[in-house]
Amino acid sequence: MSDAVKLACATCGQMNRVPVAKLAEGPKCGSCGDPLADGKVIDLDARAHDKATRGDELALLVDYWAPWCGPCRMMAPEFAKAAQTLKGRARLAKLNTQDHPDIATRTRIQGIPALVLYVRGREVGRLAGARPAAEIVAFVQGHLGSRA
Ligand code: ZN
Repeated sequence: MSDAVKLACATCGQMNRVPVAKLAEGPKCGSCGDPLADGKVIDLDARAHDKATRGDELALLVDYWAPWCGPCRMMAPEFAKAAQTLKGRARLAKLNTQDHPDIATRTRIQGIPALVLYVRGREVGRLAGARPAAEIVAFVQGHLGSRA
């Protein structure tokens, strides 16, 4: 792994180069100043989704969800916990498929919640259905471990 990774800012879309050593320190976007990887779940719009899934060099796990989906809402606190645990190693984000049905279709989301893991612009795995935090963390770590 190189000693810096590219990360898309979910707020302004700017691609940032972040030294790996700084990932755990809560790096901020050089353009708008918003946090890039502070251990919180990132709310993606269409532009940020495409930039991050294609351009991020740190693992990115996207939760495809919708407000009407009960299991999605139940999983939200578990997903947030997993985001904290994985801080500095992966970013966790969510995309509202009710607002962005075109992205759900393009990503071949069959049912929600669906978790899709992207590494350097490629999908490397997906997990269907609501999961507890420990399972989400294990899923991401399993993929990172095989790539280290
Ligand atoms: Zn920004």
